[in-house]
Amino acid sequence: MRCPYCKHDETKVIDSRNSQDFSIRRRRECLGCERRFTTYEKIEESPVRVIKKDGTRVPFDRERIRSGVEKACYKRPISPEQIDLLIGEVEAVIYEDGEREVPSRLIGELVFNALRDLDKVAFVRFASVYREFQDVHDFVEELQPILDNRRRES
Ligand SMILES: [Zn+2]
Repeated sequence: MRCPYCKHDETKVIDSRNSQDFSIRRRRECLGCERRFTTYEKIEESPVRVIKKDGTRVPFDRERIRSGVEKACYKRPISPEQIDLLIGEVEAVIYEDGEREVPSRLIGELVFNALRDLDKVAFVRFASVYREFQDVHDFVEELQPILDNRRRES
């Protein structure tokens, strides 16, 4: 864990507690500059791995998904809390499932469904924005066929 102030990479945990669903709030102190900061870390005991299309596995990374969603919601009347909620819902489904490995396609579909309910503009935008996020668990290649189907249907 890297200090956001001085970039020193040794910190100690002062306090730790469960905060929102599936994340742990940690109060940390930098061993370099002694400043304190708070981190929200996903629960590490049961890491979920994402199965990419090519069969490789990467750790599930909520922050990457969040950054994609945030871009989609740019200048939309959507609060950070709503985005938190959306990511939380997606995570809840993934963790509830009990599977330790989840296809990236499933994650993409969950985000899509949640966004569709939340905001039509953000939903459509997500479709175009995520092309920039080729590493977001391969959203792009996984979701394109779904989008193509939707277009054909409408
Ligand atoms: Zn520091």
